[in-house]
Amino acid sequence: MHLLEGIGLSKSFGGIKAIDQLDFYLEYGEILGLIGPNGSGKTTLFNLIAGVFKPDRGRIWFEGVDITRFGSAYICQMGIGRTFQVTRPFPRLKVIENVKLGRAYGREPSKTLKQAEAEAEEILDFIGLGSKRLLMAGSLSLLDRKRLELGKALSTRPKVLLLDEIMAGLNPTEIQLAMNLLRKIRESGISLIVVEHVMKAVLGLSERVIVLNAGRKIAEGSPEEVIQNEEVVEAYLGAREDAYT
Ligand code: ADP
Ligand code: MG
Repeated sequence: MHLLEGIGLSKSFGGIKAIDQLDFYLEYGEILGLIGPNGSGKTTLFNLIAGVFKPDRGRIWFEGVDITRFGSAYICQMGIGRTFQVTRPFPRLKVIENVKLGRAYGREPSKTLKQAEAEAEEILDFIGLGSKRLLMAGSLSLLDRKRLELGKALSTRPKVLLLDEIMAGLNPTEIQLAMNLLRKIRESGISLIVVEHVMKAVLGLSERVIVLNAGRKIAEGSPEEVIQNEEVVEAYLGAREDAYT
């Protein structure tokens, strides 16, 4: 049994097939990379897994339980956490309050406010935001906002974490820091699906990579295998040409 598995998933918006007959799985302890040009369906797949959208067809299992029709709050409580492509802190709350909120819901919520506070501090130390815990979330730099987005996701105590382009806009040094942090998160026992345009990061982190194009899986394999795949190279070159026309 896989930790997470989807079979025959399809999701259309109007006439657009955002996800088209997709099969995927995630193993316990694995980092799975998910890449593909803009609009290829990566965020939609995360929304299907997290219960934000229901698939038109297909099923999703988490730890052997069919979660296809479950609501997003319940799926979060079962242990599937996610970050958002556009970070969403509560800007007028302190950093620690943002993380504390997540300890009130999610998996194994804290029983008292005091416990929530202690657990939030632990998470902030883990992601390197401990010294900034009393700052307003809205005053953080981009790198720290990304850290906080991770902290908020971790505060729901996920077993699986879906990461949507958390490295966008970071410089090479910051990307290295973020990669180290993701490895640390995996070592703590959390399995990851990583969506990233920064190829060096996604290929460097992942054991296995799935490539999407127009909602379909066009390649799957080790990072070395997929970057040599002709269809993959074409999809990316095609996307690059589009960007210049
Ligand atoms: P990616 O994350 O790979 O860039 P998305 O999953 O965001 O791709 O989008 C896949 C396709 O689905 C795109 O054509 C996009 O415009 C469309 N799409 C995604 N979400 C919605 C939505 N909520 N309503 C309508 N169309 C959507
Ligand atoms: Mg996206």
